[in-house]
Amino acid sequence: MWNEKGYKKSFRWPDGVRLPIAISVHHQSEEATCPMPDGQPDPFDYSERQYGARRGAWRLLDIMSEHGVRGTWLICGATLEKYPEVSRAVQKAGHCIAGHTYAHEMMCNMPPDTEVALIKKTVAVFEDLLGEHIRGWRTCFASHNTLDLLLEHSDLEWDGSMWNDDLPSLIEGHGREMLEIPFATYSDTALGVDITNPAFPPSRFSTWNANPPDFMLRGLKSAFDALYERGAERAVMMPLVVHDFITGRPFRSKVLDEFLSYAKQFDGVVFTGHDELARWAKQSGEFGKE
Ligand SMILES: [Zn+2]
Repeated sequence: MWNEKGYKKSFRWPDGVRLPIAISVHHQSEEATCPMPDGQPDPFDYSERQYGARRGAWRLLDIMSEHGVRGTWLICGATLEKYPEVSRAVQKAGHCIAGHTYAHEMMCNMPPDTEVALIKKTVAVFEDLLGEHIRGWRTCFASHNTLDLLLEHSDLEWDGSMWNDDLPSLIEGHGREMLEIPFATYSDTALGVDITNPAFPPSRFSTWNANPPDFMLRGLKSAFDALYERGAERAVMMPLVVHDFITGRPFRSKVLDEFLSYAKQFDGVVFTGHDELARWAKQSGEFGKE
């Protein structure tokens, strides 16, 4: 069992931080390939997603380094095993690194013992191949057990799997605490894919149809403008989710490039990783009843 302490109205980021932008790069490549009706991986979708580790992740890494922005890379254990050179470059560049399940399992479909085994298996891959004991986690579609299992069976300091709020909450249980740093569905999966046609492709997370780049840029800018305005009065944050196989494509990567140039012009905008957000929230955030 666990208890949640939400943030108080008095919650503030450190002085000088008006809007933290937390870029989460989902480095998952072909792990979430859509199945064919017979259960076999769709070969076209497999190839489309494989682009993520082969080319897309490298392009995103370059763009972030050209802009001098730090972010969080959420990496599947199996992707790390297949393409270790990408994660090593991410580690060398100093980004925050966190786990994103083993092979992009949808944890909402897993019994608790399987979910625990997959969490432990993923944590071990990072230790073996990167020599890094990860501190953060974003599951693919959390189960009702996810937070409880992370508290009981891991020493992870933050989870970023929920879509339910604008700021972090403190989660307590099993004799310890963890920060929940939520994200939002206005990610590249929502802005980059034409979700008005449910019949094709097989899932909205496939990339067969695409909204035009200016639609995505407008979406990001309006989210930014609203949050930046609000940030003058109270704490806000902007989660910005990009996938290696989606935003890593040239025409979409240009949107990220242009958005970073736009956001960087504003005073008090800070690009940061979830590790630093968790630290700030613990130091300056206030949790509990008003
Ligand atoms: Zn994912």
